[in-house]
Amino acid sequence: MDDIYCFGGNPLDRASERRNDREWIAALLGDPETRILALRDLKPFTRGTAAPALDWQPVTQWRDQIDAGAQLIFLGLGDGRAHFAIDATGANVAPDVDTELVDVRALAPTIATGEAAILAEARSLLDWHARHRFCAQCGSPTKVVSAGWVRRCPDCRASHFPRTDPVVIMLAIHGDRALLGRNRRRAGARFSCLEEAVRREVREEAGIRCGRVRYLAAQPWPFPSSLMIGFLAEALTEEITVDPEELAEARWFRRDEIREMAARAAAGSDDPAQVSLPSPIAIAHHICRRWSSGLDSV
Ligand SMILES: [Zn+2]
Repeated sequence: MDDIYCFGGNPLDRASERRNDREWIAALLGDPETRILALRDLKPFTRGTAAPALDWQPVTQWRDQIDAGAQLIFLGLGDGRAHFAIDATGANVAPDVDTELVDVRALAPTIATGEAAILAEARSLLDWHARHRFCAQCGSPTKVVSAGWVRRCPDCRASHFPRTDPVVIMLAIHGDRALLGRNRRRAGARFSCLEEAVRREVREEAGIRCGRVRYLAAQPWPFPSSLMIGFLAEALTEEITVDPEELAEARWFRRDEIREMAARAAAGSDDPAQVSLPSPIAIAHHICRRWSSGLDSV
């Protein structure tokens, strides 16, 4: 499974070996070629209403905010220039700079894969900074170092790094059928792969025992900082016992049914009367689509 899914495939070179070099970072911030992506309340500034694109702006427009200590992150090098993200939450910005804000989930499927991946990185890191201002060890306010990639405690010297939460997501297969569960928190008739630690989760959520488990692919999921890790699992039993805390319902679906559900979800159909799958922004969609099309087996 070599495809790249939404939020994966970041084209930037993070140049991590150089981001502690404050003079180099300062020089990049003085370079007229450098571009900056502003986010407010974790939504990026965009340009164009019919087909919004990320609004990469010259650094000069953000000089005051940078000097005032706005949260700034070095995203990396690409197309011969440096790219930064800045947190514009609460910032007073000139009206011609202050372009339209679009929610990341809504924007991601409409922009290029590489741009969505850069946006995921920016959103996830800015959110991490907003939620990790104090040292987890001693409670002191921490300082940002390494061009936005580390927070350091001036009192106990602890370094704190951006976190990533791994989430396993799997499709349990029994012959020509697959098990899909419908989340309690999600209304309507949308079925998804069951999440969390493959065999244990399938057992806990649906009462199905699994044997072989095969890793398929991973996808960054910046809400706020997950890494979805997709699997196929071979179901050894068929009788479903749903955990009512987690799932409203779980059912076996035939391969051709799942193929149709994937096609409906890809077409954007959201008819609550018909069973469907998550949209193609989610790796769950592709796990189901690929298995139902015969592209993967456990
Ligand atoms: Zn500390």
